[in-house]
Amino acid sequence: MDTEVWTQVIVVGAGNAALSSAVAARERGAEVVVIEKAPRQYRGGNSALTVHMRFPYDGMDGLTPLLSGTSSEDLRRMAEKIGRYTAADYYDDIMTVTEGKSAPELAEVLVSQAASAVRWMSSHGHTWVPTYANPVSANVVSFKGGGYSLQEQWFGTAEKMGVSVYYDTSAIGLLQDSQGRVTGIRAKTSQGYCNFHGEAVVLACGSFESNPEMRAQHLGPEWEAIKLRGVPYNTGAGLTMGMESGALPYGSWSSCHASPQDLNRPAFDVPGPDIRGDFWSRYSYPFGIMVNLNGHRFIDEGETWRGLTYAKIGRAILAQPQGIAFQIFDQKHRQLEVIRGYEKATGFKANTLDNLAERLGIEDIAALTHTVREFNAAIRQGEFNPFKLDGKSAIGITPPRTNWALPIDTPPFEGFPVVCGMTFTFGGLRVTPDCQVVHTMDYPIPGLYAAGEMVGGLWHGNYPSGAGMMAGTVFGRISGTNAAEEALQRKK
Ligand SMILES: Cc1cc2nc3c(=O)[nH]c(=O)nc-3n(C[C@H](O)[C@H](O)[C@H](O)COP(=O)(O)OP(=O)(O)OC[C@H]3O[C@@H](n4cnc5c(N)ncnc54)[C@H](O)[C@@H]3O)c2cc1C
Repeated sequence: MDTEVWTQVIVVGAGNAALSSAVAARERGAEVVVIEKAPRQYRGGNSALTVHMRFPYDGMDGLTPLLSGTSSEDLRRMAEKIGRYTAADYYDDIMTVTEGKSAPELAEVLVSQAASAVRWMSSHGHTWVPTYANPVSANVVSFKGGGYSLQEQWFGTAEKMGVSVYYDTSAIGLLQDSQGRVTGIRAKTSQGYCNFHGEAVVLACGSFESNPEMRAQHLGPEWEAIKLRGVPYNTGAGLTMGMESGALPYGSWSSCHASPQDLNRPAFDVPGPDIRGDFWSRYSYPFGIMVNLNGHRFIDEGETWRGLTYAKIGRAILAQPQGIAFQIFDQKHRQLEVIRGYEKATGFKANTLDNLAERLGIEDIAALTHTVREFNAAIRQGEFNPFKLDGKSAIGITPPRTNWALPIDTPPFEGFPVVCGMTFTFGGLRVTPDCQVVHTMDYPIPGLYAAGEMVGGLWHGNYPSGAGMMAGTVFGRISGTNAAEEALQRKK
């Protein structure tokens, strides 16, 4: 026999978006149950593999309260480096990277509510540390202890508030009454089927990045066999069950967030206290050059801040012969300390470019030498500065180079093979700014909300770093508050 569970608000998933939603719903006074597909040991979703979230700030005033535990010396050093990042800057960045395609009503909610959502998180015990060691555009602080600690903090808060979390429990369908109102979730556990009954459901169970069939269908066959950067659990179940109940698919279903990853990264990662989500990321490419197996450059490596380009570069790498590329640096890059996080990277060193090309397996060695010579010759005068868009460009070459161009001429040379790693997909469900899921007949489906990666419309083709986690908290909080409101109204 099926197990039956009764509550008021059911949240599907236990990532940052889901737990923001669960905590907000509980705060509003509703009984809340969270259903999570992963075993407890691997809980936390992709959110547990993250580093930071993007939000507006005006100097140190709003940041200092988030940085409890940071020494006054570090605070002083940070104050010297950072300026301000306004909600308008944030909105512009979103619209620039998405080429104006982000849904304005959702982008507006995100940028206008991000700072207050961060203060709310801080009131629930989350803390941050400065990230000034790296050139950053807006993400000047990171989660203390990374996404893993952030998620552990959320679990602790939710549990203390009386939220019950069911692990190893996979949502497989929505329960609906004869009017189409969503009344619960049907789920599968290792013990059998379980029906969770409530007044409102929040779907926050990720996108379809871990589902090869959906990747091939929506992104193209070349995406079938790629490596995941995150958890294997986000197989698009929430999207599928939502659409089966009439939800409107929305946003860019043919694009995704995918970035340069070490050739030898594993097929996926699961959260754990010693797992760093960015361990396999190879993000120093804006300072060197990136070539394919034929020895040719194929992107403007220094187009702008790394946080505004990396999410589209995985796709560019996948489009190269055999889906592989090589990041090339020289001794100056080492001395300037712009090759960061490569301590355990798959890589090769050589005193000549020919030797390096041979070791890397670049097929056209002469082409690589030509590419480097041409690149070096095209570099304009000017000061190299990794902490600003320095405009040190290389012109008259294809593709052009906009910033941080340094000649590659000082041995030893270093090369790192990289592949495309899938982070998450951009297609989702249409929601109102209140996070109610919209039916294909253009009305909000009663009792159904969505948050996190499941929200469609925000990202198209590209994405600004840190915005996924921020959108998760902003829309998670809104969805939880409104789901609780609806549940409590219905109880009256
Ligand atoms: C390695 C890595 C690093 C990243 N770094 C950053 C960063 O620094 N900053 C940033 O903003 N973004 C980052 N991202 C992106 C970020 O992780 C996502 O934008 C964010 O986690 C989305 O939150 P979410 O709650 O929607 O999804 P998730 O955190 O993935 O949570 C979804 C949850 O749903 C569960 N689930 C799936 N299907 C079901 C089902 N049928 N039933 C029940 N549960 C289900 C999953 O197990 C998972 O726990 C990174 C991603 C990766 C992979």
